[in-house]
Amino acid sequence: MEGEELVPISALQHYAFCPRQCGLIHLEQSFEENALTLRGRGVHQSIERVDGCVREGLRVEYGLPLFSRALGVVGKADVIEFLPDGTPVPIEFKHGRRAERLPDQIQLTAQALCLEEMVGKEVREGAIFYFSSRRRKQVEITEELRELTKETIRQTRALLMSMRLPPPVNDSRCKNCSLIDICQPSIIAQGERRQRLQDVLFHGEGP
Ligand code: SF4
Repeated sequence: MEGEELVPISALQHYAFCPRQCGLIHLEQSFEENALTLRGRGVHQSIERVDGCVREGLRVEYGLPLFSRALGVVGKADVIEFLPDGTPVPIEFKHGRRAERLPDQIQLTAQALCLEEMVGKEVREGAIFYFSSRRRKQVEITEELRELTKETIRQTRALLMSMRLPPPVNDSRCKNCSLIDICQPSIIAQGERRQRLQDVLFHGEGP
């Protein structure tokens, strides 16, 4: 991966949620606080005081830097538990209630892949701790998740190197997105529709 753009692990979660959100944050450095991001920040500031997120009797590290030379990714783990044989188990903190969210699982899998390279042990599981419900969800680091994460790394790197902002998804994801005012998804989608109509009317170009 020498000479390739390093991809932040957080960008993978943003890309898997919405490529345009990833572009706005990581290419244009746009960041807007909303109730969800403020809650998310509060969660990360109070990790060490939360009961029930780690298993008793295990060594725990907070805020450990992560990297993978092979994949060209860098980041930081919220929490890592170490099993008695030294195998690391990454734990990612999320605000909200226990839920199946693929972007969160991709972020966790990227942490697991980094830890495998750093520690030299296979990481078969991780966990996501949902702060509002104080529930910990175990996540098996499956072959499918590994492949999906590697593909997300490739696509995110291509986006970051292209320096081009993707079009808006303009769907149900937008209503909870902190960047909706900057992104203006419905106005841009309207403009694109109008442009397509003009292309068809004046130049005979169609899909
Ligand atoms: S508002 Fe919608 S299209 Fe824009 S970044 Fe957010 S999720 Fe993506």
